[in-house]
Amino acid sequence: MAEVYNWQLGRPMEYVYEEAHPNRQFAAIFNINRCIGCQTCTGACKATWTFSKGQEYMWWNNVESKPYGSYPKYWDVKILQQLDEAHQTAGRSAEWDPAQTGEQSPYGIYNGMTVTEAATELNTGNQALGYLPPDNEWSAPNFYEDTATKYQGDRLGISTEGAALPVHQTWFFYLQRICNHCTYPACAAACPRKAIYKREEDGIVLIDQSRCRGYRKCVEQCPYKKSMYRGTTHTSEKCVGCYPRVEGNDPLSDGVPMETRCMAVCPGKIRLNGLVEIAEDGTWVEDLQNPLYYLIRGEQLALPLYPQFGTEPNIYYIPPRWAPRPYLRQMFGPGVDQAIERYSAPSRTTLALMQLFRATQTMVFKFEIEEGPLVREIERNGQAWQMYDDTVIGFDAKGREVARLSVVEPLHERPKERLNSI
Ligand code: SF4
Ligand code: SF4
Ligand code: SF4
Repeated sequence: MAEVYNWQLGRPMEYVYEEAHPNRQFAAIFNINRCIGCQTCTGACKATWTFSKGQEYMWWNNVESKPYGSYPKYWDVKILQQLDEAHQTAGRSAEWDPAQTGEQSPYGIYNGMTVTEAATELNTGNQALGYLPPDNEWSAPNFYEDTATKYQGDRLGISTEGAALPVHQTWFFYLQRICNHCTYPACAAACPRKAIYKREEDGIVLIDQSRCRGYRKCVEQCPYKKSMYRGTTHTSEKCVGCYPRVEGNDPLSDGVPMETRCMAVCPGKIRLNGLVEIAEDGTWVEDLQNPLYYLIRGEQLALPLYPQFGTEPNIYYIPPRWAPRPYLRQMFGPGVDQAIERYSAPSRTTLALMQLFRATQTMVFKFEIEEGPLVREIERNGQAWQMYDDTVIGFDAKGREVARLSVVEPLHERPKERLNSI
C-alpha cells in the first residue's frame, strides 16, 4: 500500500498505487436545491451510451429520491453499514474533527477509516470494502420516487405546523448520481487485470474493454456502485464522462471542450461541468476565475458525496436547504452547515455565478462579472442582505465569450402586431 494525500479528508491515506495526478480534472457541481427530478439527464445518457443489448438495466446517470430511493437498491445504506461494522470491529470511531481546517483540509480532518483502510484492517483480501448487488437490486432504478418521510399531520392529513426552514418535518430530495471520476478510484484499485485507468489529460476514469475479463471486482468495490456488468460482452462498463465532448471532438463542439450529455440537457439548470487544473502533488491550482474552483474551493458551497469513503470523488453537491442536518452531514461531511448558510445568503459573486449553470453547452473556463445596480435589500440569516443586478460573462477554453447573463431576468414585451403569433 502507498500513502497518498486526500484533501477532502484533510490527511494522508492508504491507496494501492503511488500518487499520480492528471493535468486537469473533470469535475461538476449539482445544485440539489434546483433539481425537479425530471430524469432528462438519465434519458440523455441512456439514449447516448446504454441503448444496446445487455445494457438494459444500466443507468450510468440516475436520480434517486432520498432518503428511501437508491440505485442499485440500498447501495449507500449497505456500504455505510459495512464501514460502521468495520469501525466497531476495530474499536474505532469514524469521527471528523471540523476544527482542524486549513488550506489542504478545508472540511477538517476525518479520523475514521476509508473503504480501503477498513479492508486492510479487516484483512478482507480485497482493496476496498464492498459487495456484489444481486440482480433484484438492479431491477427498479427509481423505486421510492418522490416518497417523503412520514407526514406529521392531523387526522385529516392537514399539517398543524406547516413547513418552514431550516428543517422541514416531512422531506425528501433528489440525489443526482454519475460516476465521480474519483482521484483515488476504488474500481481501479480493485481490478486484478489493471483494466481501469485514469486519463492524464482530464482525469476521466475508463475501463479498457480489451483488458477487462468481467471479474466484477470493480462492481463489488466501487462504493458508489457506478461500475456495471454487461452479460452480453462479459465485461464491466461505466460512465465514460462523455469524453469525445470533453475532448472537443464532438461535431458540435467547435474544437473546445463541451459539457457532457447529462449536464447539457438539464432543464432544471442544476448542473455545471468543467475542468480544473491540478498540480503535480494533486492540489487544485488556485484559479478564482474558474467557476468550479470558485464555488468548490473558494466559497466551499459545493461538497463531495460521502467523502469518508476516501476515493476523493469529483462531483460536488450544493446540499438541500430543508433536509435534517445530521443526515446531510453523514452524506456530505462537516462542511454542510456553512455551505447552506452561504447558499441562503449568497455573496455577490456567487449569485451572479449561479446564473451560469446550463447557460451554454460549452465548458466555461473563466468568468468575469460586470457590476450592476442594487435591486433589493432584505434580511437573510438574521443579517441585511443586498441583491445586485450584476452580469456574469463566461469564456470558453480559447477565451471566447460564450455566455452573458444578468441576475435579474430581462422582460421582453411582445409588440402589439405580433401578440397572436408564435
Ligand atoms: S465512482 Fe466508482 S466507478 Fe467511478 S471512479 Fe469512483 S470508484 Fe470508480
Ligand atoms: S457524463 Fe456522459 S456517460 Fe457519464 S453519466 Fe453523463 S451522459 Fe452518461
Ligand atoms: S435533468 Fe436536471 S433537473 Fe432533471 S432530474 Fe436531471 S439533474 Fe434534475
